[in-house]
Amino acid sequence: MSEGKKYNQRYRTIWEKDNRFKGWLQPVEGDKTQARCRVCGTTLKAHLRSIIGHNDGKKHKKNMTSSRYPPVMASGLSCRVFCRGITLTVTGPWNYVAGKRCDPIDSLGFMKVTEPATGQVMCEVPISGPTEVDRAVASAKNVFSTWSKLSGRERGQKLLEAGRIIRENLENISSLEVRDTGKPIWEARVDIASCADALEYYGGLAPAIVGQYVPLNGGSFAMVQREPLGVIGGIGAWNFPMQTCVWKAAPALACGNTFVYKPSQFTPITAVTLSEVLTQAGVPPGVFNVIQGEGEAGAKLCEHPDVAKLSFTGSVSTGTKVMAAGAKGIKSVTLELGGKSPIIIFEDADMKNAVKATLMANFLSQGQVCSNGTRVFVHRSIASEFIKQLVGATEKLKIGDPFAEDTTVGATIHEDHAKKVLSYIASARKEGATILCGGERVMQQGKLAGGWYLSPSVIGNCQDHMKVVKEEVFGSVASVLEFDSEEEVVKRANDTDFGLAGAVFTKDIQRGHRVANAIEAGMVWINTFNLYPTEIPFGGYKHSGIGRENGLTVVDYFTQTRTVYVEMGDVDCGPLYQD
Ligand code: NDP
Repeated sequence: MSEGKKYNQRYRTIWEKDNRFKGWLQPVEGDKTQARCRVCGTTLKAHLRSIIGHNDGKKHKKNMTSSRYPPVMASGLSCRVFCRGITLTVTGPWNYVAGKRCDPIDSLGFMKVTEPATGQVMCEVPISGPTEVDRAVASAKNVFSTWSKLSGRERGQKLLEAGRIIRENLENISSLEVRDTGKPIWEARVDIASCADALEYYGGLAPAIVGQYVPLNGGSFAMVQREPLGVIGGIGAWNFPMQTCVWKAAPALACGNTFVYKPSQFTPITAVTLSEVLTQAGVPPGVFNVIQGEGEAGAKLCEHPDVAKLSFTGSVSTGTKVMAAGAKGIKSVTLELGGKSPIIIFEDADMKNAVKATLMANFLSQGQVCSNGTRVFVHRSIASEFIKQLVGATEKLKIGDPFAEDTTVGATIHEDHAKKVLSYIASARKEGATILCGGERVMQQGKLAGGWYLSPSVIGNCQDHMKVVKEEVFGSVASVLEFDSEEEVVKRANDTDFGLAGAVFTKDIQRGHRVANAIEAGMVWINTFNLYPTEIPFGGYKHSGIGRENGLTVVDYFTQTRTVYVEMGDVDCGPLYQD
């Protein structure tokens, strides 16, 4: 064996044994001494060279020829990141079509994307024009027949692998999410881990997405085949950028569909990261595509004749447009829209848990959460003690640098939105409510000075008719409302066009269930708030949406059934036919 071959074999053995590198090297057929990088296709030795060149040319090139250890191991994380083909910095191109990052082939200009934490422009992203949307949809359509014909197990394995890659890069991807959204790093970690959860859940489920056999009279039978729909058009909001995307893409892909996603113009980064993760996991080029742009690109995607279904997360007003576009093409539509959810705290509730849940129901992600329990109904007999404890806990929240480990409240998504939130607080004051704490811009020093940091606000003396109580604020504003009886509070809680979520706090098990069953919402918690594990469906009643995400039920939204009736006897057409 030549020296070169010995060299390769030695490194290959080491790399194969090292769990950190599993999944991205594959053996070269017919040459046991070689391994190939699954991302760029080059052989092990050549690939090492490119990695080394990328990281620190001279130093590692020297190591490569002299070191007794694989140089990449010495050169650390950035090399592995490079090998994996996942870009973990804020770097374009920002579209992802046919398995590659790319610029749009027609661009309608640039979006200046601001980093919420600093208020400074973080990147400029080309706006995809109609031809680019066509190209992305064509790319998804072309690969549909290949992807949909894979077995569920094969598709599932790739999604499981994607989940694993996300976990392995959790910290770096979470940092990107912080830069995109301004939310505190601890929250971003939870969000990104939940993306891995969803990929693993639907990866595991994929082989079990099957049809039915239905026995009929006289030995005849029917097969109910479960089929994917085709190309799915996904559009997302800015508050949970990667999670929103994964909640749509993971089940869609598990069911055999292909996907084109348009992120919000405010948070373009992590949908492209997800694309790279999926490619790295072995999902074929074209199965998952990203086009960046504003509402126009989203509208074009919705209208596209080759898009079979629309899955949208955003406001009610845009959701209405998406549904209208779907109606034109007779496309099925899933809508995850806004909310104004009630949290009902009875006099027997565990006070500390109720306070903790109210914080979770109002101040996560700077209050920019669709399911937030912003109408806090408290039984009059405990209201003053509850308010005292809630205000105390709210004032302890630490506002500031989202990358600091002890920060609990980060930056609002952008200036216009922050001003909108402040205008709701002003309107509450004007209508006679009392601002018990917060509701102001908190100026930061240094590089954070341009960010819009708002102090979380608790508002007392609220009435049901007030603007802040009726409309979705989408900011850190909790309106406290007092009530006297169960019957009264249920009526008031349901007096809204929204129906996304709700909660009841009580130690009385019968009352807990009774009230939970009476709340007109798609998601109701008893004695907690804002938890949505992948295993359970999430979605709204009334104007909060149509369809569900997560859980087993979502399979019905991403598949259609073909029933094949098999006649085992003669055709029985009654008196229609006479011998
Ligand atoms: P928007 O409705 O403003 O935007 C949502 C997405 O739709 C964005 O990507 C937007 O593009 C795009 N869009 C805009 N116009 C059109 C159009 N005509 N056709 C197709 N797509 C279009 O919502 P926000 O981004 O402001 O998000 C906040 C809202 O989302 C809140 O109401 C919140 O409650 C809701 N939401 C609901 C969730 C749920 O699961 N129920 C979860 C998270 C948020 P662009 O903005 O880039 O122009």
